[in-house]
Amino acid sequence: MSEAKFHYSLSCPNGHGIPIPRPNLLEIHPTHMGMTTGEKKVIVACPECGLVSVYLESSVQMNLSPIPDPFDADRFRLVVLEVECGHEGCETPRTVHTVLENDKGTWKQKIVPKDWTFSADCLCENGHPLAPRWEDNRFAWERRRLLF
Ligand SMILES: [Zn+2]
Ligand SMILES: [Zn+2]
Repeated sequence: MSEAKFHYSLSCPNGHGIPIPRPNLLEIHPTHMGMTTGEKKVIVACPECGLVSVYLESSVQMNLSPIPDPFDADRFRLVVLEVECGHEGCETPRTVHTVLENDKGTWKQKIVPKDWTFSADCLCENGHPLAPRWEDNRFAWERRRLLF
């Protein structure tokens, strides 16, 4: 008898479900994007299509499933990287999360960060649209941290 578990996900605007661990494990920080609501936001790169978008804490979906949480089962890992704003003279780091998939013991990403697309709502703390140069992105990727 296995107990039903909650699985958590975000919906990518391109229709992909992005698996995430329990939301309290995401480093969700309040942002300064000119919003008056106090709702927390997180920037996540869709592992299926590479679209980087802002997600609200309240957009996390929960589904009951009979199979174990894929993060507990080591099928997925959440990683976090600090992407630098590419705006001239700014270089403010911004935290971006993504998910790696375990392919027979190798952690893989389908879309490498070089090919990520940043949606217009991804802004650095100074309000510049995030459009990191690949060089910065590559270093950010090398410095990524496994969160879970
Ligand atoms: Zn997607
Ligand atoms: Zn900036």
